[in-house]
Amino acid sequence: MTDLYRFFPEELEQLIIDMGYPRYRADQILLPLYYKFPKNISDIKQLPKKLITELTESGYTIGSAKETHRVVSEDGDTTKLLLNLSNDHSVETVLMQYASSKIGGHPRSTICVSTQIGCAMGCVFCATGQMGFETNLKAEHIVSQVIHFEEILQQRGEHVTNLVFMGMGEPMANYDEMIRAVKILTHPKGFGMGQRHITISTIGIKSGIEKLAEENLQIGLAISLHAPNNTLRKKLVPTATLNSVDEIIESGYNYFKKTGRRVTFEYALMDGINDSSEIAHDLAKLLRGNGSHVNLIPINPTAGDFKRPSNNRVHEFERILFDAGVNCTIRIEKGTEISAACGQLRTDILG
Ligand code: SAH
Ligand code: SF4
Repeated sequence: MTDLYRFFPEELEQLIIDMGYPRYRADQILLPLYYKFPKNISDIKQLPKKLITELTESGYTIGSAKETHRVVSEDGDTTKLLLNLSNDHSVETVLMQYASSKIGGHPRSTICVSTQIGCAMGCVFCATGQMGFETNLKAEHIVSQVIHFEEILQQRGEHVTNLVFMGMGEPMANYDEMIRAVKILTHPKGFGMGQRHITISTIGIKSGIEKLAEENLQIGLAISLHAPNNTLRKKLVPTATLNSVDEIIESGYNYFKKTGRRVTFEYALMDGINDSSEIAHDLAKLLRGNGSHVNLIPINPTAGDFKRPSNNRVHEFERILFDAGVNCTIRIEKGTEISAACGQLRTDILG
């Protein structure tokens, strides 16, 4: 079985031509795929019956993901979907809406996309990391997460405006499927999303960052740093020891030089662990003057017993970075009460 959401538009065109049909038949598939969301190939009414039968009999399908649960936060801004995938796993995907930042009269609608079920990196503060690695998602599973939300939003006259690869899993550990999904989602004949509206977040896998820099895309990059030195970082991200803090920062800087896109360093703040003033000064020294931006994320509650620092501590940390000339923001958290916030995604606890 091959899902049509797996194809690059060029590949689909080739398939249709190889089957003996004119090229425009491919457009008659692509348009509904990304604007009407058919559930079966037979729902695409413009196609000749013969082509529908031939595609179906050759093992082509639509719909590698089916919604099984939906949870909406009390304020209505955050929606979490549980999707049942064709690989018999379930994945969570989250929509965050920001009414305050409107685009053309509509709220900013950001989808937090998952690339793996579980994660092998084992970050001690992350619920996904604590469940271990289960499997990689295919490109069509990644594309389907976006399609599901686009369908929901379209019914309200809204659209997906941004994608962040910050759901379950480490995108660079599933590079080929992740980048295939990105290319389908940004292709003008695919989902047609602007490259600049996409951010990929990585725990800092240098080889992956280098590959992404070579793709010639305008994708934003976020690197989850969490500590300014190797000793502390190793405690928080036990498996990510292949690349040192210096190497990670250097590859972020190279990404910036190559693409012109400012790199964001994510820093999950944990009470008494990585939030002291001294550590803030060390971090400032490390990042000063290289055009990067720090996103401070006061930790969200997960199964581990890490605590969120006090507001005063968070603001003091921010002030130290700011005074040293390092651009810095504190992430506004969305969806904690429905366990849809950063690091809270795991498939066995829904709601
Ligand atoms: N694996 C990638 C992308 C998914 S994690 C990465 O680590 O970057 C997305 C973000 O959520 C990362 O910045 C991660 O550090 C953060 N995160 C994980 N657990 C968290 C928690 N409990 N509270 C707040 N942020 C968390
Ligand atoms: Fe994996 Fe990212 Fe969670 Fe670490 S923070 S375990 S890399 S998903």
